[in-house]
Amino acid sequence: MLRRLTDALLSVVYPDVCLVCGRVLVAGERDICVRCLLDMPHTGFHHSPEWNNLHERLMCHAPIHRATALFHYEKHSPYASLIHRVKYSGLPSVGRRIARDYASQIAQTGFFDGVDAIQPVPLSLRRIISRGYNQSHAVAMGVADVAGAAAVMDLLGARHHSSQTRKNAADRLANARHTFFVSRKISPAPAHILIVDDVITTGATLAACAEALHAAFPESILSVFALAATRLS
Ligand SMILES: [Zn+2]
Repeated sequence: MLRRLTDALLSVVYPDVCLVCGRVLVAGERDICVRCLLDMPHTGFHHSPEWNNLHERLMCHAPIHRATALFHYEKHSPYASLIHRVKYSGLPSVGRRIARDYASQIAQTGFFDGVDAIQPVPLSLRRIISRGYNQSHAVAMGVADVAGAAAVMDLLGARHHSSQTRKNAADRLANARHTFFVSRKISPAPAHILIVDDVITTGATLAACAEALHAAFPESILSVFALAATRLS
């Protein structure tokens, strides 16, 4: 009773606001208001998961079976703030909820069929300590909430590296290749590994993870799930 009263008082003093537009949320809305949900720049990639813009971007690095992302990421779009909050503002639970909602939307298309391992893009220990969590792990948990038998696994590790943001595409890939390594060999290998990230930009990070997994588990099928992806320029 006291808890409910406290929550009610807090919601008056600090109302929940839409993480995209900042408007106060009404009953039934969570994280994102209905209008921002409707206006979201959906990629629709799950309608053709084996042939789309994102799939094409990653396919030249490793054999990718299916690839999808919820929405198109643009740096100055208000939707970019969603990713920013999930990544830097201590709100991994938001990433988990958005991932869970999207995963439940696409589960019926068969996107997760056969997936038995979910691999979040790893962060180096140093980065996990400074940020407090790995946002991709939160996204992976959201998928695991929905995707039946698939379990979140940590097959990959990450070395600390300098920030990717100021490098060109070739440097990014070279840097990412040096960053990721298989930290755990399991036998039998997973049949189908879903690599999960919050946002995919050039695809260098994802490609390096896929390359490392493919080298260690050549028989495993690889697929990709992200909350957002930039459009190919
Ligand atoms: Zn909104």
